[in-house]
Amino acid sequence: MLGNSTLILCDACGTEIPDKAAKEVVYQAGRVRYRLELCTPCLSREMKRHDGYRGVPGFHKRAALVFSITSPEELPRRVPVH
Ligand SMILES: [Zn+2]
Repeated sequence: MLGNSTLILCDACGTEIPDKAAKEVVYQAGRVRYRLELCTPCLSREMKRHDGYRGVPGFHKRAALVFSITSPEELPRRVPVH
């Protein structure tokens, strides 16, 4: 697989981004956590939308941001929730 590059699809908007540019974000809803990878514009939008975040070691990346949400409805999604 040498020479192949991995692209990540942003979990919020679906944009292709290089693995290095993807940011790991964890949404904590009570005892359930959702792990997403976001592109830079989506991450900055999410940072504005939420009051604050915690930093934790990532599962895939070295570091991840944690946002607290009250329900999964608050997750950014590629497909809108109806
Ligand atoms: Zn995005």
